[in-house]
Amino acid sequence: MRDVATTAVLAAKYMTRFRCLAGDCEATCCGGGIIPVQESNHRRLTILGQGDAAALALIEHGIQRTPEGPDFARIRFDDGECSMRDGAGLCTIHQRFGHGALFEVCATYPRYASKVDDDLELFGTLACPEVARLALLADDAFELADFTLEEAPRIFRNQFRTESPYYRPFKPVRAALVRLMSEPEYALPDKLFVLLWIADKLKGVLRQGGGAVSPTELDRALGAISQPEVLDHLIRSFKDLVLDGNLAFSVIVASLRPPPEPRHGAQTAGFDAIWQAAVAAMGPALAPDATPTDVELGQAWSRYLRLRAELPRGSEARADLLLTRYVVNHLLTTPYMLSNSSFEFGYDLVVRAACLRLLLTTELSRGADDDAERDAQMVRVIYSFVRAVEHSDSLTVLRRALDAQGLAGLPHAVGFLAVWRPAS
Ligand code: SF4
Repeated sequence: MRDVATTAVLAAKYMTRFRCLAGDCEATCCGGGIIPVQESNHRRLTILGQGDAAALALIEHGIQRTPEGPDFARIRFDDGECSMRDGAGLCTIHQRFGHGALFEVCATYPRYASKVDDDLELFGTLACPEVARLALLADDAFELADFTLEEAPRIFRNQFRTESPYYRPFKPVRAALVRLMSEPEYALPDKLFVLLWIADKLKGVLRQGGGAVSPTELDRALGAISQPEVLDHLIRSFKDLVLDGNLAFSVIVASLRPPPEPRHGAQTAGFDAIWQAAVAAMGPALAPDATPTDVELGQAWSRYLRLRAELPRGSEARADLLLTRYVVNHLLTTPYMLSNSSFEFGYDLVVRAACLRLLLTTELSRGADDDAERDAQMVRVIYSFVRAVEHSDSLTVLRRALDAQGLAGLPHAVGFLAVWRPAS
């Protein structure tokens, strides 16, 4: 059992290496988004700024009261950039008053500290370019290490006890899924198929309002996905499936397509540029103002399959390795209990991975001078996606669209794995 007061945490190695790049960051987190300000923070800053007219003016301009709620106030963004930054891009609040005066989101980001029962753990969000580099590019990034935080986490990403029936199996389920994804012998789409299979198998009990899971049954089910003969059998059955990717492709395009009006701000600029490259590669059916027919979407899907077939040797495997690390980070930072069932959680994760695979293929098809540039391209795609798509309501809208169209079952989820299939 860990003591919060010691701020000892179990951390992924990549987070123990993290240092904010501040003014040198190519896509600072201080651009866009909603940063809430608590009343106690505001009062504290006002007291700290007493006698300093410039500081008080900064606080007055930079913090926007929001009487309509839900927060006391928010940081003001001018042209998509935090108004608290100085000319060098550094945080003025941090410079004048120190780390302790930062607003909670600013003090915490990009760290995801969670408290599960009495255990503290530390991972990070891949929305930060530096975290994304550290997590996605190092072979030992996800080894767990004891780590001491300089101060106790001010807010937790997740905080819960594994007591109620839906929560109780959290640790063994998460561990089994991470183990599955870390298995080097199998390809990413094969492992995602097995993840969907076990998530579907457990959905009768692993769901909101479900009853208690028998530990023996759970052990047996989770044990199955670590047995080579079971995995081989499942993967053979997956390979025999004929997948039509057209439907999944049209759902992905409809959900990721940026709005026709240009968006401003660092949260979406990178993603929108990546999407423009996708339009150039796959055709005008993907354009922000397009309303393509099924035939036009089918043509764009065929172009995607050709792009995949033409990718430079080694790029596919590298893309899937980085994507596997993305999936592991999601499993570590996002409890399945945030979804209505284990299957809904698995389905959402497969959709995210499929969206990213599509974008990675497009980006890689542009070519790169060397492996380092190729890695940098992929890191940029992943952090831009997390910022613009995961930190917006796009995936919730996608989930509702799938439910509304009756596409919420296992065969529909497996259809998204067509993004990995070669052209037939
Ligand atoms: S995105 Fe990451 S590296 Fe960049 S300024 Fe924010 S915390 Fe620092």
